[in-house]
Amino acid sequence: MRTSDAKVQVTGHGRSRQTWSSGHGGKVAFVTGGGTGIGFTIAEVLMRHGCDTVIASRRLDKLQESAATLRAATGRRCLPIQMDVRDPKKVQAAVAEAMKEFGKINILVNSAAGNFLCPAEGLSFNAFRTVMDIDAMGTYNVTKVVFDEYMKKHGGVIVNITATLQVRGQVYQLHAGAAKAAIETMTKHLAVEWGEKGIRIMCVAPGPIGDTEGFSRLGGKALRKEYVDNIPIQRVGTREDIANTVVYVCSDAAQLLTGSTVIADGGSWLTNENNLSGIRHIVELYSKM
Ligand code: NAP
Repeated sequence: MRTSDAKVQVTGHGRSRQTWSSGHGGKVAFVTGGGTGIGFTIAEVLMRHGCDTVIASRRLDKLQESAATLRAATGRRCLPIQMDVRDPKKVQAAVAEAMKEFGKINILVNSAAGNFLCPAEGLSFNAFRTVMDIDAMGTYNVTKVVFDEYMKKHGGVIVNITATLQVRGQVYQLHAGAAKAAIETMTKHLAVEWGEKGIRIMCVAPGPIGDTEGFSRLGGKALRKEYVDNIPIQRVGTREDIANTVVYVCSDAAQLLTGSTVIADGGSWLTNENNLSGIRHIVELYSKM
Protein backbone atom coordinates (compact mmCIF):
# COMPACT_ATOMS: atom_id res chain seq x y z
CA MET A 1 0.00 0.00 0.00
CA ARG A 2 1.37 3.45 -0.88
CA THR A 3 1.47 5.91 2.02
CA SER A 4 -0.82 8.17 0.00
CA ASP A 5 -3.43 5.38 -0.01
CA ALA A 6 -3.74 5.59 3.77
CA LYS A 7 -6.67 7.55 5.16
CA VAL A 8 -5.60 11.18 5.52
CA GLN A 9 -5.97 12.56 9.03
CA VAL A 10 -7.65 15.88 9.78
CA THR A 11 -5.88 18.42 11.97
CA GLY A 12 -7.63 17.29 15.15
CA HIS A 13 -9.27 20.61 15.89
CA GLY A 14 -12.90 20.52 17.00
CA ARG A 15 -15.63 20.64 14.40
CA SER A 16 -16.08 24.41 14.29
CA ARG A 17 -12.78 25.62 15.60
CA GLN A 18 -10.96 28.24 13.60
CA THR A 19 -8.13 30.34 14.87
CA TRP A 20 -9.03 33.65 13.18
CA SER A 21 -11.68 35.18 10.95
CA SER A 22 -10.71 35.28 7.29
CA GLY A 23 -13.95 36.42 5.65
CA HIS A 24 -14.27 33.11 3.78
CA GLY A 25 -17.80 32.31 5.01
CA GLY A 26 -20.06 31.20 2.15
CA LYS A 27 -17.25 30.99 -0.42
CA VAL A 28 -16.53 27.99 -2.62
CA ALA A 29 -12.98 26.72 -3.08
CA PHE A 30 -11.87 24.32 -5.83
CA VAL A 31 -8.76 22.41 -4.70
CA THR A 32 -6.86 20.20 -7.16
CA GLY A 33 -5.05 17.36 -5.43
CA GLY A 34 -7.42 17.92 -2.48
CA GLY A 35 -7.82 14.22 -1.70
CA THR A 36 -4.38 13.82 -0.15
CA GLY A 37 -1.49 15.56 1.56
CA ILE A 38 -1.19 19.32 1.59
CA GLY A 39 -4.23 19.79 -0.71
CA PHE A 40 -6.42 17.82 1.71
CA THR A 41 -5.43 20.00 4.66
CA ILE A 42 -5.88 23.17 2.60
CA ALA A 43 -9.45 22.02 1.87
CA GLU A 44 -9.99 21.20 5.54
CA VAL A 45 -8.76 24.53 6.89
CA LEU A 46 -10.69 26.50 4.23
CA MET A 47 -13.80 24.54 5.31
CA ARG A 48 -13.13 25.38 8.96
CA HIS A 49 -13.14 29.01 7.82
CA GLY A 50 -16.59 28.63 6.25
CA CYS A 51 -15.90 27.54 2.66
CA ASP A 52 -17.57 24.72 0.81
CA THR A 53 -15.08 22.84 -1.33
CA VAL A 54 -14.56 20.78 -4.46
CA ILE A 55 -11.64 18.36 -4.30
CA ALA A 56 -10.49 17.06 -7.68
CA SER A 57 -7.89 14.54 -8.85
CA ARG A 58 -7.67 11.18 -10.65
CA ARG A 59 -8.57 8.62 -7.94
CA LEU A 60 -12.29 8.88 -7.23
CA ASP A 61 -12.29 6.33 -4.37
CA LYS A 62 -9.64 8.30 -2.50
CA LEU A 63 -11.50 11.58 -3.15
CA GLN A 64 -14.79 10.13 -1.90
CA GLU A 65 -13.18 8.86 1.29
CA SER A 66 -11.45 12.20 1.88
CA ALA A 67 -14.63 14.20 1.15
CA ALA A 68 -16.54 12.15 3.74
CA THR A 69 -13.78 12.78 6.30
CA LEU A 70 -13.77 16.51 5.53
CA ARG A 71 -17.56 16.83 5.75
CA ALA A 72 -17.64 14.99 9.09
CA ALA A 73 -14.78 17.05 10.52
CA THR A 74 -16.05 20.47 9.48
CA GLY A 75 -19.78 20.27 8.84
CA ARG A 76 -19.30 21.96 5.43
CA ARG A 77 -20.07 20.60 1.96
CA CYS A 78 -17.32 18.89 -0.05
CA LEU A 79 -17.82 17.56 -3.57
CA PRO A 80 -15.30 15.01 -4.88
CA ILE A 81 -14.75 15.11 -8.66
CA GLN A 82 -12.60 12.82 -10.78
CA MET A 83 -10.37 14.86 -13.08
CA ASP A 84 -6.95 14.64 -14.70
CA VAL A 85 -5.48 18.14 -14.78
CA ARG A 86 -3.66 17.26 -18.03
CA ASP A 87 -6.90 16.77 -19.94
CA PRO A 88 -8.68 20.05 -20.80
CA LYS A 89 -11.98 18.26 -21.58
CA LYS A 90 -12.00 16.53 -18.18
CA VAL A 91 -11.14 19.85 -16.53
CA GLN A 92 -14.04 21.56 -18.34
CA ALA A 93 -16.42 18.78 -17.27
CA ALA A 94 -15.22 19.00 -13.65
CA VAL A 95 -15.61 22.77 -13.47
CA ALA A 96 -19.08 22.48 -15.07
CA GLU A 97 -20.05 19.93 -12.38
CA ALA A 98 -18.74 22.22 -9.63
CA MET A 99 -20.65 25.19 -11.08
CA LYS A 100 -23.83 23.10 -11.32
CA GLU A 101 -23.51 22.13 -7.64
CA PHE A 102 -22.41 25.45 -6.13
CA GLY A 103 -22.94 28.17 -8.79
CA LYS A 104 -19.58 29.80 -8.04
CA ILE A 105 -15.85 29.23 -7.52
CA ASN A 106 -14.35 32.04 -5.44
CA ILE A 107 -11.02 30.38 -4.69
CA LEU A 108 -8.92 28.05 -6.84
CA VAL A 109 -5.99 26.20 -5.27
CA ASN A 110 -3.72 24.37 -7.72
CA SER A 111 -2.03 21.77 -5.51
CA ALA A 112 -1.95 18.71 -7.83
CA ALA A 113 1.57 17.70 -8.79
CA GLY A 114 3.86 14.76 -9.46
CA ASN A 115 7.47 14.42 -8.39
CA PHE A 116 10.36 12.01 -7.87
CA LEU A 117 14.12 12.31 -7.42
CA CYS A 118 16.19 11.74 -10.57
CA PRO A 119 19.59 12.98 -11.76
CA ALA A 120 19.22 15.16 -14.87
CA GLU A 121 21.36 12.76 -16.92
CA GLY A 122 18.97 9.89 -16.16
CA LEU A 123 15.76 11.76 -16.89
CA SER A 124 13.82 10.41 -19.89
CA PHE A 125 11.91 12.64 -22.33
CA ASN A 126 8.71 11.17 -20.99
CA ALA A 127 9.57 11.70 -17.31
CA PHE A 128 10.40 15.37 -17.87
CA ARG A 129 7.27 15.92 -19.95
CA THR A 130 5.00 14.16 -17.44
CA VAL A 131 5.98 16.46 -14.59
CA MET A 132 5.73 19.55 -16.82
CA ASP A 133 2.30 18.32 -17.97
CA ILE A 134 0.88 17.71 -14.49
CA ASP A 135 2.40 20.69 -12.70
CA ALA A 136 2.72 23.49 -15.27
CA MET A 137 0.15 22.54 -17.94
CA GLY A 138 -2.24 21.25 -15.28
CA THR A 139 -2.09 24.55 -13.40
CA TYR A 140 -2.67 26.45 -16.64
CA ASN A 141 -5.57 24.20 -17.72
CA VAL A 142 -7.52 24.47 -14.47
CA THR A 143 -6.79 28.19 -14.11
CA LYS A 144 -8.00 28.89 -17.66
CA VAL A 145 -11.24 26.95 -17.26
CA VAL A 146 -12.10 28.45 -13.84
CA PHE A 147 -11.34 31.91 -15.30
CA ASP A 148 -13.56 31.30 -18.36
CA GLU A 149 -16.45 29.82 -16.40
CA TYR A 150 -16.53 32.07 -13.34
CA MET A 151 -13.69 34.41 -12.38
CA LYS A 152 -13.64 36.42 -15.62
CA LYS A 153 -16.99 37.97 -14.63
CA HIS A 154 -16.89 37.68 -10.84
CA GLY A 155 -13.23 37.87 -9.76
CA GLY A 156 -11.61 35.56 -7.22
CA VAL A 157 -8.32 34.36 -5.81
CA ILE A 158 -6.02 31.72 -7.28
CA VAL A 159 -3.25 30.13 -5.18
CA ASN A 160 -0.65 27.94 -6.87
CA ILE A 161 1.35 25.59 -4.65
CA THR A 162 4.95 25.60 -5.85
CA ALA A 163 8.14 24.68 -3.93
CA THR A 164 11.57 26.04 -3.01
CA LEU A 165 13.69 23.70 -5.13
CA GLN A 166 13.63 26.07 -8.13
CA VAL A 167 14.88 29.03 -6.08
CA ARG A 168 18.51 27.86 -6.22
CA GLY A 169 18.31 24.86 -8.55
CA GLN A 170 18.37 21.72 -6.42
CA VAL A 171 20.01 18.50 -7.64
CA TYR A 172 17.79 15.65 -8.90
CA GLN A 173 14.88 18.07 -9.33
CA LEU A 174 15.34 19.53 -12.84
CA HIS A 175 11.84 18.44 -13.93
CA ALA A 176 9.93 19.69 -10.86
CA GLY A 177 12.01 22.87 -10.57
CA ALA A 178 11.39 23.75 -14.22
CA ALA A 179 7.65 23.18 -13.76
CA LYS A 180 7.39 25.19 -10.54
CA ALA A 181 9.40 28.06 -12.07
CA ALA A 182 6.98 28.08 -15.02
CA ILE A 183 4.05 28.29 -12.60
CA GLU A 184 5.62 31.19 -10.71
CA THR A 185 6.21 33.08 -13.97
CA MET A 186 2.64 32.35 -15.16
CA THR A 187 1.45 33.75 -11.84
CA LYS A 188 3.17 37.09 -12.49
CA HIS A 189 1.75 37.37 -16.02
CA LEU A 190 -1.80 36.58 -14.94
CA ALA A 191 -1.61 38.95 -11.95
CA VAL A 192 -0.73 41.74 -14.38
CA GLU A 193 -3.48 40.89 -16.89
CA TRP A 194 -6.29 39.90 -14.53
CA GLY A 195 -5.91 42.34 -11.64
CA GLU A 196 -8.43 44.72 -13.22
CA LYS A 197 -10.96 41.88 -13.27
CA GLY A 198 -10.79 41.54 -9.48
CA ILE A 199 -8.57 38.47 -9.61
CA ARG A 200 -5.55 38.03 -7.37
CA ILE A 201 -3.15 35.17 -8.11
CA MET A 202 -0.37 34.06 -5.80
CA CYS A 203 2.04 31.20 -5.18
CA VAL A 204 2.70 29.57 -1.84
CA ALA A 205 6.04 27.74 -1.86
CA PRO A 206 6.37 25.10 0.86
CA GLY A 207 9.77 23.90 2.04
CA PRO A 208 9.94 20.29 3.28
CA ILE A 209 6.60 19.40 4.89
CA GLY A 210 7.07 16.63 7.43
CA ASP A 211 3.61 15.07 7.55
CA THR A 212 3.33 14.28 3.83
CA GLU A 213 3.90 11.23 1.68
CA GLY A 214 5.90 13.45 -0.71
CA PHE A 215 8.33 14.28 2.11
CA SER A 216 8.96 10.56 2.71
CA ARG A 217 9.15 9.73 -1.00
CA LEU A 218 11.65 12.52 -1.69
CA GLY A 219 14.00 11.43 1.08
CA GLY A 220 12.81 13.78 3.82
CA LYS A 221 12.96 11.11 6.51
CA ALA A 222 16.70 10.95 6.00
CA LEU A 223 17.20 14.69 6.54
CA ARG A 224 20.21 15.17 8.75
CA LYS A 225 19.75 16.64 12.21
CA GLU A 226 22.05 19.49 11.15
CA TYR A 227 19.63 20.36 8.35
CA VAL A 228 16.72 20.76 10.75
CA ASP A 229 18.89 22.52 13.35
CA ASN A 230 19.87 24.93 10.61
CA ILE A 231 16.28 25.94 9.82
CA PRO A 232 15.72 29.30 11.54
CA ILE A 233 12.50 28.12 13.21
CA GLN A 234 14.17 24.79 14.16
CA ARG A 235 11.62 22.48 12.54
CA VAL A 236 10.24 21.43 9.18
CA GLY A 237 6.76 22.62 8.19
CA THR A 238 3.42 20.86 8.54
CA ARG A 239 0.43 20.60 6.22
CA GLU A 240 -1.48 22.86 8.57
CA ASP A 241 1.26 25.54 8.30
CA ILE A 242 0.77 25.58 4.54
CA ALA A 243 -3.02 25.52 4.78
CA ASN A 244 -2.98 28.48 7.18
CA THR A 245 -0.73 30.37 4.75
CA VAL A 246 -3.18 29.68 1.91
CA VAL A 247 -6.15 30.77 4.03
CA TYR A 248 -4.38 34.06 4.72
CA VAL A 249 -3.24 34.64 1.12
CA CYS A 250 -6.76 34.25 -0.23
CA SER A 251 -8.43 36.19 2.59
CA ASP A 252 -9.57 39.81 2.51
CA ALA A 253 -6.62 40.58 4.79
CA ALA A 254 -4.26 39.99 1.85
CA GLN A 255 -5.77 42.34 -0.72
CA LEU A 256 -2.40 43.83 -1.68
CA LEU A 257 -0.91 40.45 -2.50
CA THR A 258 -0.85 39.42 -6.14
CA GLY A 259 1.77 38.08 -8.54
CA SER A 260 4.25 37.02 -5.89
CA THR A 261 5.38 33.93 -4.03
CA VAL A 262 5.16 33.43 -0.30
CA ILE A 263 7.98 31.10 0.70
CA ALA A 264 6.67 29.09 3.65
CA ASP A 265 9.65 27.12 4.94
CA GLY A 266 10.64 28.64 8.28
CA GLY A 267 13.52 30.44 6.56
CA SER A 268 15.21 27.21 5.47
CA TRP A 269 16.05 28.39 1.93
CA LEU A 270 18.10 31.21 3.45
CA THR A 271 20.27 29.02 5.63
CA ASN A 272 20.39 25.46 4.37
CA GLU A 273 22.81 23.78 2.05
CA ASN A 274 22.23 23.20 -1.64
CA ASN A 275 25.06 20.93 -2.63
CA LEU A 276 25.51 17.66 -4.44
CA SER A 277 27.10 15.76 -1.58
CA GLY A 278 24.50 16.84 1.00
CA ILE A 279 21.55 15.80 -1.13
CA ARG A 280 23.24 12.62 -2.40
CA HIS A 281 23.81 11.71 1.25
CA ILE A 282 20.06 12.10 1.90
CA VAL A 283 19.14 10.02 -1.15
CA GLU A 284 21.59 7.25 -0.21
CA LEU A 285 20.34 7.09 3.37
CA TYR A 286 16.75 7.07 2.12
CA SER A 287 17.37 4.23 -0.35
CA LYS A 288 18.59 2.05 2.58
CA MET A 289 15.42 2.68 4.67
P1 NAP B 1 0.49 14.42 -2.74
O1 NAP B 1 -0.22 14.03 -1.50
O2 NAP B 1 1.15 13.36 -3.55
O3 NAP B 1 -0.53 15.26 -3.63
C1 NAP B 1 -0.48 15.32 -4.99
C2 NAP B 1 -1.92 15.29 -5.45
O4 NAP B 1 -1.95 15.55 -6.83
C3 NAP B 1 -2.61 13.97 -5.19
O5 NAP B 1 -3.82 14.20 -4.50
C4 NAP B 1 -2.90 13.41 -6.59
O6 NAP B 1 -4.15 12.74 -6.60
C5 NAP B 1 -2.93 14.70 -7.41
N1 NAP B 1 -2.54 14.49 -8.80
C6 NAP B 1 -1.38 13.96 -9.27
N2 NAP B 1 -1.42 13.90 -10.60
C7 NAP B 1 -2.63 14.40 -10.98
C8 NAP B 1 -3.26 14.59 -12.24
N3 NAP B 1 -2.67 14.25 -13.39
N4 NAP B 1 -4.51 15.15 -12.26
C9 NAP B 1 -5.12 15.49 -11.11
N5 NAP B 1 -4.56 15.34 -9.90
C10 NAP B 1 -3.33 14.79 -9.84
O7 NAP B 1 1.63 15.51 -2.50
P2 NAP B 1 1.92 16.68 -1.44
O8 NAP B 1 3.27 16.38 -0.92
O9 NAP B 1 0.81 16.92 -0.52
O10 NAP B 1 2.08 17.92 -2.44
C11 NAP B 1 1.06 18.87 -2.67
C12 NAP B 1 1.69 20.08 -3.35
O11 NAP B 1 2.70 20.64 -2.50
C13 NAP B 1 2.38 19.77 -4.66
O12 NAP B 1 2.17 20.84 -5.57
C14 NAP B 1 3.85 19.68 -4.28
O13 NAP B 1 4.71 19.95 -5.36
C15 NAP B 1 3.92 20.75 -3.22
N6 NAP B 1 5.06 20.61 -2.29
C16 NAP B 1 5.11 19.57 -1.40
C17 NAP B 1 6.18 19.48 -0.50
C18 NAP B 1 6.27 18.38 0.53
O14 NAP B 1 7.21 18.37 1.35
N7 NAP B 1 5.34 17.42 0.55
C19 NAP B 1 7.21 20.44 -0.55
C20 NAP B 1 7.13 21.46 -1.48
C21 NAP B 1 6.05 21.54 -2.35
P3 NAP B 1 -4.49 11.50 -7.61
O15 NAP B 1 -3.40 10.53 -7.46
O16 NAP B 1 -5.84 11.05 -7.13
O17 NAP B 1 -4.58 12.10 -8.98
